[in-house]
Amino acid sequence: MKVPICSFDAKTGVLCSKCEAKLQSGGITQDDVDASIKLSKVAGKSQEADKFTLLKGARVDDDFVLVLRGSDIMSVRTNPNLSERISKEFGQKVWFVESESSERQFLESLFHPFKIINVNQFWLPDGKVTKVIAAGRQDPRINVEKFKKIAKAVRNIELLVEFETK
Ligand SMILES: [Zn+2]
Repeated sequence: MKVPICSFDAKTGVLCSKCEAKLQSGGITQDDVDASIKLSKVAGKSQEADKFTLLKGARVDDDFVLVLRGSDIMSVRTNPNLSERISKEFGQKVWFVESESSERQFLESLFHPFKIINVNQFWLPDGKVTKVIAAGRQDPRINVEKFKKIAKAVRNIELLVEFETK
């Protein structure tokens, strides 16, 4: 498994001087460190998780967001046992998103299992906004405020969500 800190540090839960310096300088965050250590525990018992590349971890409210590669997201989606095990280790709801990809792919992984119809970017006087049109009526399981916070935390996207109305 690849994580933002040394894999040895992730296993022992103690940072070496190099990683400690990265944390102090802001190169990595405490959330990255915590996510690395917890995910490493899962990887010790799961071959699938052991292949993961964790790019970033971010606490958003009471949830934890793990930014992984697209192929890792695929294995989580096709293996409910694995995502359950990870959520158990974290002791909170865990979101799995990919980010080394296009903005649309990131948003699709965020909205999963809900479908996105369209993604548009436009400029407002105070910056760029990304508008997502989600399929179907407003589903109560879609927590728009949470999606906005995650998009901001992980990719610095100002998100707007609208629902397709028929
Ligand atoms: Zn280290």
